[in-house]
Amino acid sequence: METEDPKDFPGDPDDMQRLWTPHRMVYIQGEGKPEDPSDDAQCPFCSAPSRSDEEALIVHRGELAFVILNLFPYNSGHLMVCPYRHVADYTDLTEAEVLEVADLTRTAMRVVREVSSPGGFNLGMNQGEAGGAGIAAHLHQHVVPRWVGDANFLPIVGRTKALPILLADTREQYAAAWPSGEES
Ligand SMILES: [Zn+2]
Repeated sequence: METEDPKDFPGDPDDMQRLWTPHRMVYIQGEGKPEDPSDDAQCPFCSAPSRSDEEALIVHRGELAFVILNLFPYNSGHLMVCPYRHVADYTDLTEAEVLEVADLTRTAMRVVREVSSPGGFNLGMNQGEAGGAGIAAHLHQHVVPRWVGDANFLPIVGRTKALPILLADTREQYAAAWPSGEES
């Protein structure tokens, strides 16, 4: 498996751009990156819901949006909240989708807190390729748990090989902790 040279990473450990770099790494390596961004059939966020929760690493399926683990997380437990619809821009979302993405984001924080006890979170959407989105054509809100002292690029590189098992475990824990009721 190809990895990036750590020397190529930006030097400031608190730089926001670096925060999303691992998310982009998988796509830099070409895995799952759509050749034609306008083609829904090539979009990993569109195809994920048709697979099993375990296979696609889906934590929760809502009515209009779903919650999925990032394949190459910056931190353990890096979740993404995505509408089922293949829309790129936040302004493209319907009122109901905005509400559900927000609601799922809030519940995701509660679930991650319960399971993983992070010290904080980074929430956000990268809009457009210039904004740092790996898959710019399909909107996704990042929910990244943070722990004091985690801003070091070495664990990112070192963690790469252990990821598949960690991700399966993490998915199971979060799915089990996800509240069953509609209320959040
Ligand atoms: Zn899509």
